[in-house]
Amino acid sequence: MTLSHRTECFTDSVIRRMTRISMQYDAVNLSQGFPDFDPPQAIMDRLAEVAHQGPHQYAVTWGAQNFREALAAKQSRFMGRTIDPNREIVATCGSTEAMMCAMLTVTNPGDKVIVFSPFYENYGADTILSGAEPIYVPLNPPAFTFDPEVLEDAFRQHPKALVLCNPSNPCGRVFTREELSVIADLAERYDTYVITDEVYEHILYAPHRHTYFATLPGMWERTISCSSLSKTYSITGWRLGYIIAPEEVIDRAKKVHDFLTVGCAAPLMEAVIPALNFGQDYYDGLAAKYAHKRELFLKGLDDLKIPHNEPQGAYYVMLDIGEYGYGSDLKFCEDLAAKVGVGAVPGSSFFREDVNHLIRMHFAKNDETLQEALNRLERIGTLKK
Ligand code: GLN
Repeated sequence: MTLSHRTECFTDSVIRRMTRISMQYDAVNLSQGFPDFDPPQAIMDRLAEVAHQGPHQYAVTWGAQNFREALAAKQSRFMGRTIDPNREIVATCGSTEAMMCAMLTVTNPGDKVIVFSPFYENYGADTILSGAEPIYVPLNPPAFTFDPEVLEDAFRQHPKALVLCNPSNPCGRVFTREELSVIADLAERYDTYVITDEVYEHILYAPHRHTYFATLPGMWERTISCSSLSKTYSITGWRLGYIIAPEEVIDRAKKVHDFLTVGCAAPLMEAVIPALNFGQDYYDGLAAKYAHKRELFLKGLDDLKIPHNEPQGAYYVMLDIGEYGYGSDLKFCEDLAAKVGVGAVPGSSFFREDVNHLIRMHFAKNDETLQEALNRLERIGTLKK
């Protein structure tokens, strides 16, 4: 007896494996990106009420009506375009399902999909699970920019879609309007869909600003916008995500979603609604909170003389571990968790290219947690070979 070929071609998630390794060594876990602080009080209070009042049974498969309406209103405000809650949204179990669902909606087995490298590791598995074939285009460190010529070469292979993570995990790029226009122009010329992952849409560091790809001229028709509430409201465990796209795409995506998961957790869709109604001050406060954490953590790394990049958005930083003499960044991360007590993700799980000298940490943690991690990192020199 044999199992499916498609499950042979990828490993379990190294990001989530590093969380298990961190737990094993009681390390400060800066690997899998999730906060250790509470979500907004308003939705915790509402969740307590909902526990007694319900709903506890299935919601409408595409997302509860009031959830989609509140979400459409919020996204319409930020995207500057009226989103129809009935025709242009499907609620999914996190952006993870949104991306898988988008991939299955757009591609046929054998189709090619452009993925920038480094990339969030789910995209590799998403393409394999849907039978598509990734074409990787490098984002060149240290600035993590792409070469338009290399990108056009990838488009010449007539991909069905391009995956765009913006702000970008793991490299922290916030693509400029000019860069996005290059992608838009190629998508138009080669008639390609763009599947976005915009979960860090509200985590940006001045002067960088987020441009929703779907809002570029002519791009609404070919963009499948995926995002989630996980990062915006510090509720990664609630698994609330969504796809926004034109009605013809959403009609198909609804079917895929229906048979993948049926729907999101009904009580959680109900409980999150007060957050969807927050005003601009909430989003300004979130950005300010992360700007403070970024400064605290990056300054700590500077004091320790650990080289790193300067993220423009999202909450990750890439550290250069070249000087420690490890051939394997995975082994380095295991030793870092076991001997120094800090969890990180090996860079090789994000890069298509042979990159072994970078590791990723995140700073979505309480200041005390970040300080504890920095204190422990004072001993990073003991790993030197
Ligand atoms: N996006 C998070 C990270 O990169 C993880 C999300 C997840 O594990 N689903 O760490």
